Amino acid sequence: MSRVYNFSAGPAMLPEKVLETAAAQMLEYKTTGQSVMEMSHRSKEYQAIIDGVEASLREVMSIPDNYKVLFLQGGASSQFAMIPLNLMNKTGKADFVITGQWAKKAYQEASRYGECNVVASSADKTFSYIPELDKSKFNPTADYFHICQNNTIYGTRFTELPDTGNVPLVADLSSCILSEPVDVSKYGMIYAGAQKNMGPAGLTVVIIREDLIGNARDICPTMFNYQIHAENGSMYNTPPTYGIYILGLVLDWIKEMGGLEAMKARNEKKAAMLYDFLDSSKMFKATVSGKDRSIMNVPFITGNEELDAKFVSEAKKAGFINLKGHRTVGGMRASIYNAMPVEGVEKLVEFMKKFEAENA
Ligand SMILES: *Cc1c(COP(=O)(O)O)cnc(C)c1O
Repeated sequence: MSRVYNFSAGPAMLPEKVLETAAAQMLEYKTTGQSVMEMSHRSKEYQAIIDGVEASLREVMSIPDNYKVLFLQGGASSQFAMIPLNLMNKTGKADFVITGQWAKKAYQEASRYGECNVVASSADKTFSYIPELDKSKFNPTADYFHICQNNTIYGTRFTELPDTGNVPLVADLSSCILSEPVDVSKYGMIYAGAQKNMGPAGLTVVIIREDLIGNARDICPTMFNYQIHAENGSMYNTPPTYGIYILGLVLDWIKEMGGLEAMKARNEKKAAMLYDFLDSSKMFKATVSGKDRSIMNVPFITGNEELDAKFVSEAKKAGFINLKGHRTVGGMRASIYNAMPVEGVEKLVEFMKKFEAENA
């Protein structure tokens, strides 16, 4: 067996320990005589799993008691509609910061349901920075204020949350959840597709303050209503049972690694290694500079498309896969989520140095 270093933006690498445990438990979970995949979601064995995963997530993220944790399906993209259908219920207005394609999609989808105000955008420079926010542009009567906290495609992140006062802050944390501690109480709602930092595709996690639940619009489909999922413990219908179980194993691994403070230190170390090399290289250049640099997604270019393509192809042969950048940025992107070992980034930097020397 020879496992590659996978720099995919998602679905992404999982910790080897998680895959080993899942493999060991594939045919029989504990002494149940069955795989978790085969279990009834209504069984007491599965109830113990989902309860344990929720408790574990609450512990790792220090989620306050007045927040519900929902295990849903439909990806982060379904949240782009679920959020307005549930939360745009007083003035029918919401504020948005457009920092990339996902932020824009959230804005576009919400615009089908209400009046959406763009507070700021970084579209002018291909989303290579986080715009300054002018509080006078915030709508104090908005039903919510939406940000995409880490911009997976462009490699930027908010280092400071906007002060939205009483307006609930709703944040897409798909590509940075569990990468460092966050103060959940600062948000009205956090959501994330699991396939970057939490587990396999198919599971979407929503963490929502209780008072925001229960006022969905009449037209809101039952399956899109947070109240329905909250009242049924994420079991209104069959939840993504196996994905939830894998999230539990990922959380066990994070706890063993020392929790989110330790994850943060490790992620910052990996990102610094890569950015330091990019800043010193004559061939490679990061597309984002300064404090807005993501510690999860690192886009970079050579400035020469042929050279970019050669790099991506040689990197693949050397066991570093999925380094091709998003088509809107070009070049390369290394996604270095929690599960990417420090060694994976060290070896990538070594490979880039060698490539630079050979192709100078
Ligand atoms: C990947 C991603 C999405 C889309 O997630 P799906 O689960 O595929 O719908 C949305 N937002 C961000 C920030 C992402 O990284």
